[in-house]
Amino acid sequence: MPGFEVFGEEEKKEIGEVLDTGVLFRYEFPNERRGIYKVRQFEEEFARYCGVAHAQAVTSGTAALKVALTAMGVGPGDEVITQGFTFVATWEAIFDVGAIPVFAEVDDTLNLDPADLEGKITARTKAIIPVHMMGVPARIAEIKAIADRHGIPVLEDTAQAPGAGIKGRKCGSFGLCGTFSFDPVKTMTTGEGGMIITDDEDLWRKMSEYHDHGHDHVANPGGRGGEGRSFIGFNFRMMELQGAIGLAQLAKLDGIIAAQRRNKEALRELVGQLPGVSFRTVIDPAGDNASFLAFFLPDAAEARRVNEILGQNGAGAVYFANNTWHYYPKWEHLLAGSTLARSGWPFEEAGGRRRVHYDPAALPRSAALLDRLLVYPVPVKLSPERLEQIGKAVKAAC
Ligand SMILES: *Cc1c(COP(=O)(O)O)cnc(C)c1O
Repeated sequence: MPGFEVFGEEEKKEIGEVLDTGVLFRYEFPNERRGIYKVRQFEEEFARYCGVAHAQAVTSGTAALKVALTAMGVGPGDEVITQGFTFVATWEAIFDVGAIPVFAEVDDTLNLDPADLEGKITARTKAIIPVHMMGVPARIAEIKAIADRHGIPVLEDTAQAPGAGIKGRKCGSFGLCGTFSFDPVKTMTTGEGGMIITDDEDLWRKMSEYHDHGHDHVANPGGRGGEGRSFIGFNFRMMELQGAIGLAQLAKLDGIIAAQRRNKEALRELVGQLPGVSFRTVIDPAGDNASFLAFFLPDAAEARRVNEILGQNGAGAVYFANNTWHYYPKWEHLLAGSTLARSGWPFEEAGGRRRVHYDPAALPRSAALLDRLLVYPVPVKLSPERLEQIGKAVKAAC
């Protein structure tokens, strides 16, 4: 699963080049930095890898979502549709720009269900965020077709799927923009960090300026220009050290994915022995980044029973139905409207009027899938001993 498994000499060499200049900041200091622009180079190489024109580095995957939504003009009064199976960051960012998250079902891809999406669109819907969960692409062609019909832009949350794609085209490049995370458990990591990719130059320029306090980047796209400002901004700048690590990790990404594919196949062979097991739908197996193996048991009781035995044998799987970070009915703070703001924002407006209310039972089709789902994270390095242990656990569960 994570890039931290392959952290090594290449990352240290890249970091060393930054330390030698003493310039940790991505802009300015032209004399001291001796031509070294790691964040900019990381952006250029990441864009090339994804087959898009532009990439904007930021401080995290959550910041990437916030910067993208802001540049898209999404704000108070707007609704953004996403799925009820994702990391909390997806909807935190929607709230943070002042909009309201609307949750849709997932289907057997464990990603946004196009059949549920259309019914959730209203006149207020200003963006749709499908999440390519656990390295596997969403039904992006169907989702895009629906979004296009309604004139609504698509932002792909690709935090968990760098390098994944459909028929050779990379996830994150189908919609208006795509966001990535390089946090410590992601497929490639910079410790903290994020990226947004797009082919839309105007959107990219807005993201670039917004993430740098509104600094005018017009005269020098991707870098600073004059001292003017077109709109208010914020600070979501990535450090040179992160850019340096990102370059080394990006160079390893295809190798990480190739290793995960082999390991996923080995795990799949073992898990396939479980009676009644079936696997998550992967639209294009050649485009799976293979970070996770997701499988269904015939019903919830069987999933829990099997996982108990797997656990007793040292090979427990993740039961996402109980996961409090990734699954809608388990987000107790969202359901309760818990916030630090005295006004009750973003759940209430000043004056106490409730803006939004979430029903824990609102996504029954997702529940029917998640209740019988088990997931193994796929490591980059899988020892024969560990594989044997998982094999024995599966046999016991059979
Ligand atoms: C990790 C993740 C994020 C947030 O990334 P951070 O870099 O941790 O802020 C957003 N969306 C999804 C689906 C994620 O898995």
